[in-house]
Amino acid sequence: MKVLISDPIAKEAIEVLKNAGIEAVEQPGLAPEDLIKAIPEYDGIIVRSATKVTKEVIEAAKNLKVIGRAGVGLDNVDRAAAKDKNIKVVNTPAATSISVAELALGMMFSAARRIPQATASTKAGKWEKKKFKGFELYGKTLGIIGAGRIGTELAKRAKALGMKVLAYDPYVKTHEEAQIAELDTLFKESDYISLHIPKTDETTHILNKAAFDKMKEGVVIINCARGGVVDEDALYEAMKSGRVRIAAMDVYEIEPAKEHKLFTLEESIVTPHIGAQTAEGQLRAGVQIAELVRDALKKT
Ligand code: NAD
Repeated sequence: MKVLISDPIAKEAIEVLKNAGIEAVEQPGLAPEDLIKAIPEYDGIIVRSATKVTKEVIEAAKNLKVIGRAGVGLDNVDRAAAKDKNIKVVNTPAATSISVAELALGMMFSAARRIPQATASTKAGKWEKKKFKGFELYGKTLGIIGAGRIGTELAKRAKALGMKVLAYDPYVKTHEEAQIAELDTLFKESDYISLHIPKTDETTHILNKAAFDKMKEGVVIINCARGGVVDEDALYEAMKSGRVRIAAMDVYEIEPAKEHKLFTLEESIVTPHIGAQTAEGQLRAGVQIAELVRDALKKT
């Protein structure tokens, strides 16, 4: 059995395959036409987000039984084409939940004490002690939209800090770490609102002008979920009016976001879609995907 590793992956993942007697061939960065040429000899392929497993790649495959995506999104795999050829598609949606939850928590601390703004000011030679009087998270209300894997990890951590945690999720009726609330109640009561939902028709622009109008003056918004769940124009206006004190964003409607009007505001905190980018998260994703691919091949 032979598995092509076409994006960089942890060496521990390669070991998982080798220990099962599977040959792992590392060829990161193959051009699409080279991938099409190479694929016929492989039983499995492991990718992250860079390699596109297109219909053409899948049609060129002769022995392919499994496609493994180390990570969450499957946008780079043509699942319909794989299904037509009875090729299994596996991914590791839970591997980086803690990493993303910790980034959201980091955004909350950053917003409460304006750490990025204070860093920029101090490095610029100002010593603006008064300007940077902040807030404690203790005793504040966090509203989590989407009480799934990441939302739950964030809720646990926020509770441990002494925050009150509300969660809105129409598909979750009870929750151990948070008090389930209606969306309007969450908007009205939260000091911090963090999004942890997929982008669907239902969640697109779930935070829009009407939503911002219902929120507390000075609310902090955190989006480490997907671009498009927040109406960025409405967010910009809500920041200009002071309704939103700070917006912390890891994801954008258009990525890569090299220019953005939110970047022009001092009170925005922005990162380049790094929620899952931790050593531990990537190691977990690599090892888990290798195990899933190994198990799928051993069953055939
Ligand atoms: P999950 O599937 O475990 O949880 C999502 C939750 O959203 C579910 O409980 C679901 O019921 C809920 N939901 C669905 N529709 C809803 C709606 N209309 N209103 C409220 N809740 C709704 O997913 P997860 O692993 O927790 O991931 C959450 C999001 O984080 C996903 O969009 C994912 O793509 C994103 N993510 C971002 C990064 C990053 O790098 N920033 C990394 C990993 C995941």
